[in-house]
Amino acid sequence: MSLHNIAVIGAGTMGNGIAQVCATSGLPVTLLDISDAALERGMATIRKNLERQVNKQVITEDEAASALHRIHCTTDYASLNDADWVIEAATENLELKLRLLKQIAEHVSADCVIASNTSSLSITQLAASVANPERFIGLHFFNPVPMMGLIEVIRGLQTSDLTHFQALEMAARLNKTAITAGNRPGFVVNRILVPMINEAILVFQEGLASAQDIDDGMRLGCNQPIGPLALADLIGLDTLLAIMQAFHEGFNDSKYRPAPLLKEMVAAGYLGRKTGRGFHTYN
Ligand code: NAD
Repeated sequence: MSLHNIAVIGAGTMGNGIAQVCATSGLPVTLLDISDAALERGMATIRKNLERQVNKQVITEDEAASALHRIHCTTDYASLNDADWVIEAATENLELKLRLLKQIAEHVSADCVIASNTSSLSITQLAASVANPERFIGLHFFNPVPMMGLIEVIRGLQTSDLTHFQALEMAARLNKTAITAGNRPGFVVNRILVPMINEAILVFQEGLASAQDIDDGMRLGCNQPIGPLALADLIGLDTLLAIMQAFHEGFNDSKYRPAPLLKEMVAAGYLGRKTGRGFHTYN
C-alpha cells in the first residue's frame, strides 16, 4: 500500500492526535482545518505531547523534530490532490461531514482511501456522499490517540474487501490493534461501555450505593482502571446523554433509555469534570 501522504481533516482533539501518531510512525501528513488559528492550536498540542514523550524517553529529540517536520498544515483543499489516504476527524455533525466528504472526494484521486473517525454517524450514509464509496471506511480512534492502542475499523455496506484490508494495514502501520465492527450505533466499544455507565447511574439513582462505592466496586471487583461514574465525569455527562439518546433512537429499544438522573444532571449543568461537578466534585 502506498503511503506517501496522509491527509488528516480537522486539527482538534482527535485530528491532532491522529496527525501526531501518523508522523511519529514515519508517515508524511497534511493536516487541514478551516483556519490558521485551529491549525496552530492543534500543532501546539502536538508539540507539547511530543515534548512530554521526549521527557519520558519514549522518543528521542531527533525523532520528535522529524515527526514535526513531517506535518504540513493547510486550509486549502487543493493540497489533498496527492493524498493516498484521507482520515476525516472534523466536528461531529452529519450535514458538515456530508458536505466536507463530498468536497474531499472532488480533490483526491479515485483510489485514495477515505476514512471517517466518526463516533456515532453511519459509515454507510457517509460513504454515499463520495464517488467510489467502496474506498470509504470507518477508522475509529480512541482518545487520547497517542496513548490508546485500539482502532475500530467499521465497514459500511459499500466498503470493499480491499479497503478493509488497507485499513487493517494502516492500523498495523500506526502500531495499533484493530478490531472490525459492523455499522451500528456505537460500533462495539461504546455500545458496551456507554450502557454500562448508564446502568451505574441507575444503580446510584436507586440509592443502592454511594458514587465512591460504585466506582471502587467496579475498579477493584472488575479491574477497571477507573470507576464508571468517574469515567462518566471524564467523558462529559452531556456527551453520554447524546450517545444514549442516539442508541435509544437508532435501535428503537427501551433497554437504551437514558437514566432519568443523567438527564436531570445535564439539565442542571452538572456535566462532570468540565464544569467541576458531576458524580464527583473537582477543583
Ligand atoms: P474537536 O471539536 O476537538 O475538533 C474538530 C475540528 O474540526 C476543529 O478543529 C474544527 O475547526 C474542525 N473543522 C470543523 N469544520 C471543518 C471543516 N469544514 N474542514 C476542516 N476542519 C473542520 O472534535 P474531536 O473531539 O476531535 O472530534 C472529531 C471527530 O472525532 C468527531 O467525528 C468525533 O465523533 C470523533 N471522535 C471523538 C472522540 C473524542 O473523545 N473526542 C473519540 C473518538 C472519535
